[in-house]
Amino acid sequence: MSFPFQLGALLHEGKAKRVHATDRTDVLAVEFKDDATAFNAAKKASLAGKGVTNCRISALLFDHLARRGVPSHHLGLLQPGWVAVRPVTIVPLEVVIRNRAAGSLCRQLPVAAGSLLEPPLLDLYYKDDALGDPLLTEARLERLALVTPAERRTIEDLARRINAELQALFAGVDLDLVDFKIEFGRDSSGAILLADEISPDTCRLWNRSSSDENERILDKDRFRQDLGGVVEAYGEVLKRVEGVCPEPGFYR
Ligand code: 5GP
Repeated sequence: MSFPFQLGALLHEGKAKRVHATDRTDVLAVEFKDDATAFNAAKKASLAGKGVTNCRISALLFDHLARRGVPSHHLGLLQPGWVAVRPVTIVPLEVVIRNRAAGSLCRQLPVAAGSLLEPPLLDLYYKDDALGDPLLTEARLERLALVTPAERRTIEDLARRINAELQALFAGVDLDLVDFKIEFGRDSSGAILLADEISPDTCRLWNRSSSDENERILDKDRFRQDLGGVVEAYGEVLKRVEGVCPEPGFYR
């Protein structure tokens, strides 16, 4: 592997990515893994090609959002499956935006699956695998003091802007952005940046031209529900997004 820097120690290994130090203090190298997990890692598999596909989708989406003024940790692609990012301290919040009802919302509330949520619903979860990423209430969020009121406003405003931009992008390639999870971090100056990844592992995406409720699924629900064709579905998302986005930027 050849990088424009010296690769350093493995700093963190998550369920879908490994984060490595580099000899540049302001750059980390992130490797997307083929590992797939669901139900808080109770279900696991290795899906050949998933890492490279998700990495490229995520790079295209972060570049797209950067062109629209969304600040993020993303610096550019390094090689297939690897991106360069700015170091951030992750805010332990999972920010979920829902445009249509699906998944946990339908299990927890009497809302019909697939129904439109207008305005989109924004849910905040406490990012902690050991606790099962619990849904936060206003009082619990205040009690944990994970973010200042100003940071909370920044995060929610960015999340809604990101949703509007991604919804439009995906609609242009006949995909419905049902819901997604994003994470934010603070850089060394304390600025809030979009972080982590955006891919079919973290979004629900339905093929608009398919009415079959299993066939239309082009995201991690294929893995969760044992529908098969997971990497093929992710590849279809990549092909469509590549068709409307410029080549992803490389970090040199
Ligand atoms: P739900 O609340 O239905 O489980 O998830 C809502 C959306 O956020 C889905 O698109 C789901 O993929 C994403 N999401 C929520 N939590 C996580 C998580 O811990 N990891 C990943 N990869 N996606 C998540």
